[in-house]
Amino acid sequence: MADYIIVGGGIYGCAVAWELAKRGADVQLLEAKTIASGASGGLGERGVRANGRDLRELPLMRLAYDIWPTLHEQIGGFTGYRRLGHLQLIEREEDLARAPAQVWLQNQQGVESRLLDAAQTRGLEPQLSEDVIAAIYCPNDGVADHSATTRSMAKAARAQGAVIQENARVTGMARRGERVVSLSVEIDGSPVDVPVGERIILLSNAHVGAFVAEYLGLELPIWRMLPQVMALRADIPPPMRRLIGHAHRTLAIKPLPDGRVMVSGGWRGRWDETTGRGQPVAEQVEGNRLEAVAVYPALADLAVDEVYTDRAEMVSIDGIPIIDALPGADNMLVGVGWSGHGWAIAPTVARLLAEWALSGRRPGLLAPFGYGRFFDRPQRRREHRENPRSR
Ligand SMILES: Cc1cc2nc3c(=O)[nH]c(=O)nc-3n(C[C@H](O)[C@H](O)[C@H](O)COP(=O)(O)OP(=O)(O)OC[C@H]3O[C@@H](n4cnc5c(N)ncnc54)[C@H](O)[C@@H]3O)c2cc1C
Repeated sequence: MADYIIVGGGIYGCAVAWELAKRGADVQLLEAKTIASGASGGLGERGVRANGRDLRELPLMRLAYDIWPTLHEQIGGFTGYRRLGHLQLIEREEDLARAPAQVWLQNQQGVESRLLDAAQTRGLEPQLSEDVIAAIYCPNDGVADHSATTRSMAKAARAQGAVIQENARVTGMARRGERVVSLSVEIDGSPVDVPVGERIILLSNAHVGAFVAEYLGLELPIWRMLPQVMALRADIPPPMRRLIGHAHRTLAIKPLPDGRVMVSGGWRGRWDETTGRGQPVAEQVEGNRLEAVAVYPALADLAVDEVYTDRAEMVSIDGIPIIDALPGADNMLVGVGWSGHGWAIAPTVARLLAEWALSGRRPGLLAPFGYGRFFDRPQRRREHRENPRSR
């Protein structure tokens, strides 16, 4: 019996496994498919960005700035982390009006930020459209190779003694009182009962909502989204050097190491019941491409090489994750609802989750992410649990 059972082999599960195992804990990770087969894998790179992030996540991102540059040394594996800097582009006067406040706030949180005028912005990115009038620049933001990092993290966890099991799908759980005592798991298709020693840490992203509803009778205010990512083929050098975001357009752009340009930012696919996967939608693909062309006109000549919408992510109603022990399962920690920006903060959150799992005390930096924030008073939280559909 392992003391710590982790469900999910994405970046969160693998990083918590590594953090626990290197502190000497006895860890078993259960992954339904293969490592990085969910939101932590797939095309291109992920942004490691503080610029424009929710205030409550900025302290986590500030710590992540210190972890990312040497993470490859710590885990002895490739992360592809590159500190490119991030520009949040501004085209509208109303966005320019609020920009100094955002710059001030981010600097207060230790996130170096500068407001650049049009000439300074074009000095950094000469091929930008003339419509860009300013930008908020965070020089310490960057990108990482998410698939490689997640696999490196799993390997590092194994090297520290963690047992990482692929093709191990969690299908149920048994409790004694308020404690989870075992999990029902299908390992390579065969049913197995996996006992829980100390704690379970549920980090299975798209699976968490339905699982918690079925076994704890709790409703979490989260839902599934299918973010779209595409790569444009570039016969020319990518026209941008940095990670690009935008104050009002739904847009993120990255120059990829293979010379292509990655375009994303919040466009969506649709769920296909027949294939059981997210499928791209033509208008969404074209909408995203046109947003990119609007700020980098040189992208107009680039063809769409690949598009994917098959990596599901859970979004929470207030745009930040739920990281907590839930009522009815005192020895279970849950992290879910990363809302499309969970990558960058993962090394920080994983460290804090491991400390919480070992000490039994919630680290102060995770206090803003408690499940209790959705309830007007503790009594409601109990009522909700006893009769979740009554409110
Ligand atoms: C297209 C896209 C672009 C993104 N871009 C960015 C970005 O630029 N910057 C940023 O900060 N964030 C970004 N994110 C968000 C970030 O990638 C995610 O928040 C993060 O990867 C979530 O990690 P995870 O480990 O929680 O989930 P996942 O990687 O989804 O891992 C969960 C794992 O649980 C497994 N699982 C599911 N059910 C079970 C079960 N029953 N039993 C066992 N295992 C199970 C799954 O197979 C999966 O491997 C993006 C997300 C997507 C999808």
